[in-house]
Amino acid sequence: MSGSLLVDNIGELVTNGPGTRPLGIRRDAAVLVEEGRVAWVGPSATAPAADRRLDVGGAAVLPGFVDSHAHLVFAGDRAAEFAARMAGEPYTGGGIRTTVGATRAATDDELRATVRRLRGEALRQGTTTMEIKSGYGLTVADEARSLRIAAEVTEDTTFLGAHVVPAEYADRPDDYVGLVCGPMLAAAAPHAKWIDVFCERGAFDVDHSRAILACGQAVGLGVRVHANQLGPGPGVQLGVELGAASVDHCTYLSDADVDALASSLVDCMCHEGPHSTTVATLLPGAEFSTRSPYPDARRLLDAGVTVALATDCNPGSSYTSSMAFCVALAVREMRMTPAEAVWAATAGGARALRRDDIGVLVPGARADLMILDAPSYLHLAYRPGVPLIRQVIRNGVPL
Ligand SMILES: [Zn+2]
Repeated sequence: MSGSLLVDNIGELVTNGPGTRPLGIRRDAAVLVEEGRVAWVGPSATAPAADRRLDVGGAAVLPGFVDSHAHLVFAGDRAAEFAARMAGEPYTGGGIRTTVGATRAATDDELRATVRRLRGEALRQGTTTMEIKSGYGLTVADEARSLRIAAEVTEDTTFLGAHVVPAEYADRPDDYVGLVCGPMLAAAAPHAKWIDVFCERGAFDVDHSRAILACGQAVGLGVRVHANQLGPGPGVQLGVELGAASVDHCTYLSDADVDALASSLVDCMCHEGPHSTTVATLLPGAEFSTRSPYPDARRLLDAGVTVALATDCNPGSSYTSSMAFCVALAVREMRMTPAEAVWAATAGGARALRRDDIGVLVPGARADLMILDAPSYLHLAYRPGVPLIRQVIRNGVPL
């Protein structure tokens, strides 16, 4: 569809732009979309003419969700493991190897069908940008094909060859790190924008993690880290040391971890003022699905750290694609205000992906937005579990 589109009669518009922080809310507003971009934002009463007009009837309109952490390339199902956990078994991360076996055995088309199904499911729930990781192949060929398939549906692809040491390397992790940094990275890098590592006891220690991330940086990949999920550890500070765009999970933080994140503050010329270079991305779906303590978002926010929310969508520890669910959890369980949680799920996710073209509705931004069946963004947390996303517009195209 070509031509301009005026999204009009918006009761409450979340721009994440200038104005009341953090959401930059406008009332009785309109958004003009041209060629996939936001061309104009202002009062309905003074809206310019357009080829088409979409009257949203006073509904709330927000930037589309930015889900900056998801593992969609896999095969198989771990519902039985979830049931066992709910019956009292602890989560150790060991189940990742179950998915690795199923993923290696799957055909390209089977993997592609799962990625497209989950990407579509997320899109219908308002997620207009989604980062997708590899990490269930763990061979040169399987990691490369995972990223190739992910790249068909997103520009934010992440090489996670260092998800877990696969069974065949269990007694020689040094050799596996050599494989990841050598032939696996070489095969993955053409299809990846980011590199990630699961820096955790039972996965990769700090020296291996540093080596892997440095190899990725050397070939131009941006850094992200799975850090401090299952217990205290060095992952967060390693991420800050390497200038990671994001450290993800952050469930167990020491004062030194929070200080490190806060010390990554930079003065930015953008409208948000100072924010941390390394974002703390919180993934409450994982704590929900593993019945674990939630991270303390309030502590990070009070220290001035930039916080993002993401789903961690994966078959083992967080099989949800719903950003609205994560917003509700963050408000109820992590001491975030609804405004902070909605910002973290939109503009925060964009920061975690180092992108300034999404997560905001200001002139020049990508026209990615969602129209709620509700008068206010507050309903995303106030009405948990309810399908409130009436319509999604991506790249200026109503879906
Ligand atoms: Zn993850």
